[in-house]
Amino acid sequence: MPKYKVLITDHISQDGVNILKADKDIEVDVKAGIKNPDLKKIIGDYDAIITRSGTTVTPELIENPGKLKIIGRAGVGLDNVDIEAASMKGIIVMNAPTGNTLAACELTMAMMLSVVRKVAAANQSTKAGEWDRKRFMGIQLYRKTLAVIGLGRIGSNVAKRCKAFEMKVVAFDPYIKKSKADSLGVELCETMEEALAQADVVTFHTPLTDETHNMVTAKEIAMMKDGAVIINCARGGIVNELDLVEACKSGKLTAAGLDVFEAEPPVNHPFFDVENIYVTPHIGANTAEGQYGVAVIIAEQVVNALHGRSYKNAVNIPFMKTQLPEEMQRYFTLLESMGHMAAQLTKGRPEYIEVQMVGQKFEEDFGERTFDTPFNFQPFTIAGLKGFMEVAVAENVSFINAPYIAKERNIDIVETKASNYIKFNDLVVMKVRTDKEEKIYAGTVFADNTGRLLIYDKYYTDLIC
Ligand code: NAD
Repeated sequence: MPKYKVLITDHISQDGVNILKADKDIEVDVKAGIKNPDLKKIIGDYDAIITRSGTTVTPELIENPGKLKIIGRAGVGLDNVDIEAASMKGIIVMNAPTGNTLAACELTMAMMLSVVRKVAAANQSTKAGEWDRKRFMGIQLYRKTLAVIGLGRIGSNVAKRCKAFEMKVVAFDPYIKKSKADSLGVELCETMEEALAQADVVTFHTPLTDETHNMVTAKEIAMMKDGAVIINCARGGIVNELDLVEACKSGKLTAAGLDVFEAEPPVNHPFFDVENIYVTPHIGANTAEGQYGVAVIIAEQVVNALHGRSYKNAVNIPFMKTQLPEEMQRYFTLLESMGHMAAQLTKGRPEYIEVQMVGQKFEEDFGERTFDTPFNFQPFTIAGLKGFMEVAVAENVSFINAPYIAKERNIDIVETKASNYIKFNDLVVMKVRTDKEEKIYAGTVFADNTGRLLIYDKYYTDLIC
């Protein structure tokens, strides 16, 4: 009898389906194209769902998640999954970010070359019986400057290929180290404007976030060289669509090549009437190799996650306990126990919880966040919160949703660090304030690896936790 049920809600490569089917503990259902109202009725019967961009995971869809523990996205983009809503329900969201990197990179190259050489229009014209060589005068990439906005996986690969075309490559990406750009032979700019101002071709490879939405409007286009080219094979809405239309119509830009739209599929879009805007229907990832890659990767990840073996590419797990050094894992468990204790021993309605990490051991940043979260806490704080909320709240509390649950209950969560506390050098302290009282719990890990509670309220103690 299979232990787990997995539902595939979009078309994915059969190789991925086969990986799931090969596991005797997993029963697989494929309902590609299922609509949300129907999906909502059955979603709670499944331990995991695997989607592509066809399924929009809304808060409503996972309102009653039942058994659902994992949402796997066969691809990179997660704009169709409400990660915060999933986190709130304790559901792990994972994607397959590397499976189609080269497919998207190669489409960018194809787009860039066909835009500067007007390949698509020349094809159409020639087949229509014309022989208009003058109209199809192009521009060379050789010795031109390319600006890559977003030097991540795809951006880096585009940069490498453009270097082979002997282009000068500059980039803007505020979240990468300069050494990464150096190793690619790319000049990292301090601002996007600096990159735009020197580029003959600008290509976008960022995710779509509040920060990148409309990051290029008429104002930024005005700073660009006359006759430059824009390529966007990342996400629609990064470049303001109407401003791009104006810039291409006026001749400020020579051309634009776009694989993505703000609303997909676009209907009667203003792009369609502009000759020097070239469009494709979001086919960046559509290569046989890309589709095989994402399906296999996500299937393997979901199998591993269901068995609790690993949670690779989970975007909403703020940390992995097993990735902490062994001694720090013990502090993590200690804080979870202290949370349990604090929830039971502090009277009243919690209003404020502070986790203080004391000593050199905690100087390092142990957290790792891959999506925008309102919480930027260390694993120890989350462990304390999880322990506390688990006792205080009668619902499924996990390391993923504990901060969300606390926030929902208007509890202020504060994380602090200190070099010492009274006479102790290595300590974790949990202060809990309620509408009735304030209590302090503090503990440490002894050399024999036991967690001890050393302070309870105003008293010294020594309790194994
Ligand atoms: P990635 O996470 O490896 O890289 C994204 C980069 O953008 C990161 O280095 C990040 O630091 C940078 N970034 C984030 N915010 C930024 C900002 N405000 N300014 C500048 N840089 C910023 O992602 P990736 O795998 O390279 O994918 C890039 C984009 O391509 C994503 O939007 C993805 O959804 C899209 N994509 C599209 C297709 C397609 O079919 N057209 C296929 C695959 C990926």
